[in-house]
Amino acid sequence: MLGEMYSTAFTGAAFNWICSPVVTELETIVLDWLARAFALPSCYLSTGPTHGGGVIHGTASEAIATVMVAARDKYLREATAHITDEEEREDAIALRRTKLVALGSVATHSATKKAAQIAGVRFRAVPVHAEDGYRMTGAELGKTIDGLHAKGLEVFYITTTLGTTDTCAIDDMDSIADLLDEIAPAATLTPEQKRDGQGEIWVHVDAAYAGSALVCPEYQHLTPVFARFHSYNVNVHKWLLVNFDCSLLYVRDRNWLIDALSVNLAILKNAHTDSGLVTDYRDWQIPFGRRFRSLKVWFVIRTYGINGLRAHIRKHIKLAEDFAGMLQTRPDLFEIVTGPRYALTVFKLKHKSQTAMIQEVNALTKKSYDDVVAEGKIFLSSTVVGGVFAIRHNPATPFVEAHHVKKHFEVLVAAAERALAEV
Ligand SMILES: *Cc1c(COP(=O)(O)O)cnc(C)c1O
Repeated sequence: MLGEMYSTAFTGAAFNWICSPVVTELETIVLDWLARAFALPSCYLSTGPTHGGGVIHGTASEAIATVMVAARDKYLREATAHITDEEEREDAIALRRTKLVALGSVATHSATKKAAQIAGVRFRAVPVHAEDGYRMTGAELGKTIDGLHAKGLEVFYITTTLGTTDTCAIDDMDSIADLLDEIAPAATLTPEQKRDGQGEIWVHVDAAYAGSALVCPEYQHLTPVFARFHSYNVNVHKWLLVNFDCSLLYVRDRNWLIDALSVNLAILKNAHTDSGLVTDYRDWQIPFGRRFRSLKVWFVIRTYGINGLRAHIRKHIKLAEDFAGMLQTRPDLFEIVTGPRYALTVFKLKHKSQTAMIQEVNALTKKSYDDVVAEGKIFLSSTVVGGVFAIRHNPATPFVEAHHVKKHFEVLVAAAERALAEV
């Protein structure tokens, strides 16, 4: 909160480096600190080999809309680079634009669909299956891409998710990367073009919620594959003690954003920008002006330290494991659907009859869920995954303690017993 107050006190538009060098430079510094803390590949560091780096956006939705626009323009630029006549190229770009498809999975957050609406491209969802734990796999992605190509459509962008909203599933990043290696028009590209990511489908990793867990080494085995993708976002205001709003966006090459979003205005002319040695973050985002959000991150890191942040995440992981353990002590009442994953447990009620139809189980779980919410002691959200109505429990909030979670369980048991008594 102090970080937020200081940040607000330094009010100013700070759209380029010269407006406020500190607003720019502290942002670069704290984003590099966190990229290292999350063990992101070095291509996402401001000092990395590919001229990547991070920027703070307000929300994941903004970050996704921004990278989708960058991906669209990159794709169209590369696909029409061989056309030398300017007007002819403009026509070719306009025509190809109508063929573009952005992909996510059925479990991808709606922010990707919204971004496609904003970018004026189609959105299609890759199916996910219960037996894969609701993860998107390379095999399913490949089928979807083949189907779209057969219709003459062009896939230019994919959102993969680290921690889906419904069940906190992690898409199968390795099989997705392998698939994309196969279908990239690799043979026609020079090594330089490949290094620059030319002709690739842009892959964004949406880690808005679960990405905070990457501060713990036990989750960092997930990150090496991101070097084969293009961008990554995590909302540290969701699970890393920074208050709303603060969504970190990392890209492997900053020029992809700048090429799509940079503007020239007489008032922006200055020797520092012309030198190419400073960062003007207005070209990495939709808005022109910007807040001093990095101060909030700086306060949090200085207050807790990386070890404090790890302890914060691990406390919630442990509380969720305890909660799932409690559910398992009552197999007569509850059945876990997924998890606990990243502190999220998704569960349903157990029907008395072994032969109950899915609709009957759903009705039972919903009755119990509505009862809990109507009672008003605790508030939980529900979801439907693979046709199953389920209740979601997640203790990841700063002041939660074991006794709260125990109380949640007791409230849920009482409601489940009431619902089952009426069957
Ligand atoms: C919360 C969430 C979002 C949306 O976040 P906003 O910052 O509110 O736009 C998108 N994707 C995932 C995976 C999320 O958890």
